[in-house]
Amino acid sequence: MAGRPGSGGGATDGAAPVSDPDILVIGAGAAGIAAARAVLAAGRSVQVLEARDRPGGRAWTDTATLDAPFDLGATWLHQAGENPLTALAAKAEPFDHDAVRRHVCLLDGRRATAAEMAAYDAAYAAFHPRLEAALAAAPPEATAADYAPRGGFWDATVAHWEGPVIAAAPLAAMDLRDFLATQLGGPNLLLPGGIGALLAGLAAGLPIAYGAVAERLRWGEAGGVVAEGGFGRIAARAAIVTLPTAVLAAGGLRFEPALPAGTEQAIHDLPLGLLTKLGLRAAGDDRLDLEPFTGLERHVAREEEEAMTFIAWPFGRDHLMGFVGGGAAWALAEEGEAALADFAFAELRRAYGARADRALRREGVLASHWGTDPFARGAYSYARPGRAMARRMLAAPLAEGRLCFAGEACHPRFAGTVGGAWETGEAAARSALEALP
Ligand SMILES: Cc1cc2nc3c(=O)[nH]c(=O)nc-3n(C[C@H](O)[C@H](O)[C@H](O)COP(=O)(O)OP(=O)(O)OC[C@H]3O[C@@H](n4cnc5c(N)ncnc54)[C@H](O)[C@@H]3O)c2cc1C
Repeated sequence: MAGRPGSGGGATDGAAPVSDPDILVIGAGAAGIAAARAVLAAGRSVQVLEARDRPGGRAWTDTATLDAPFDLGATWLHQAGENPLTALAAKAEPFDHDAVRRHVCLLDGRRATAAEMAAYDAAYAAFHPRLEAALAAAPPEATAADYAPRGGFWDATVAHWEGPVIAAAPLAAMDLRDFLATQLGGPNLLLPGGIGALLAGLAAGLPIAYGAVAERLRWGEAGGVVAEGGFGRIAARAAIVTLPTAVLAAGGLRFEPALPAGTEQAIHDLPLGLLTKLGLRAAGDDRLDLEPFTGLERHVAREEEEAMTFIAWPFGRDHLMGFVGGGAAWALAEEGEAALADFAFAELRRAYGARADRALRREGVLASHWGTDPFARGAYSYARPGRAMARRMLAAPLAEGRLCFAGEACHPRFAGTVGGAWETGEAAARSALEALP
């Protein structure tokens, strides 16, 4: 089914995993790719173990289902001026989405008027300043919900965007300080060929063994580390582990000896929220009166209301991109792909009635499945209340750099992004390289 992870099965990128590399990297997502490239650039040897049959992890571009590139995971290069992938994407013709971004907001099935949109914009503009103002006096366990504006007509809609849609989890679940520290700004770049495709290109030529599920990592001996799994046994001087925190928390990799209590706690304090993406293709010429790149959203009465937002016809292509996040995304992940598609159509019918059924194809819907994917178990991380320090704790090298963690959850500023994951991979490589004789 479209959107499912590669099942793996022992395939490798041309060769079996090499034993005795200087550094072993576990996971070939953004962090693992960056780490492996940095190790090679330093003139040392590396072996990457990847559970799936492809690189990119939570950045994955499907090209077959909609006859156009569609990112099932990471969509934008956020904060492009500080994003390490911006320069690496230069040849991928990045497109500044902010330059053409328009919004249509629906209210009771009709388009909000200019006055209503102005009120919505004002409510949005008030949100972050209110949280920032509360920061100094907020108790250590404060959540992002504690200070979010309430009671105004648009406040729940703003909270819905900021929580379940953007952060993939409700505001009440998230630490206030981490929430504010990890806010992202523009420019927000879209890549016509997809971010997953960019990462696949950056992984080309790296020594990656695919279908190689690491099951156990021994890191106690001073001489190095040993990874074991269906691929056999690989020894190295140091290891960089880039698995999603939800995979680590579920025991997806056994550590011997057990991890220090602080690292273990940090993993559990950085759970993954869920954002599910959907691609819906036009059935004919009807473009629902939406210009390419227009955002379609609606007023919600409660932050956790089940609602779907859409980006229309990116690059003039004939599909809509749908997003549903937080509790609604987890519930729909349980119910399956047909329920997700039904839900998307029900949302569109609110605005377009039966025209939605005529304008869009019901068959051939493309959906992501990060919630049920055993190598992801969610979309991206947030910090539990009072646990903003968990990102730095997880990123702290162990055993003088013999064991380092990397991945989006480790970044104190750009958590939840490909650029952040990339930077943590490079940082972990520097620490692991220092551990080498
Ligand atoms: C729906 C969605 C939308 C997103 N939107 C954006 C966005 O617009 N912009 C943005 O910057 N970011 C976005 N993100 C987040 C971004 O995709 C991630 O932050 C980033 O890709 C994470 O990279 P990583 O290297 O930390 O982890 P991953 O990409 O998850 O890499 C970890 C790798 O480890 C592998 N693995 C797991 N278990 C094992 C094992 N036991 N042995 C071997 N390998 C294993 C996995 O298969 C995976 O390839 C989005 C994510 C999702 C899901």
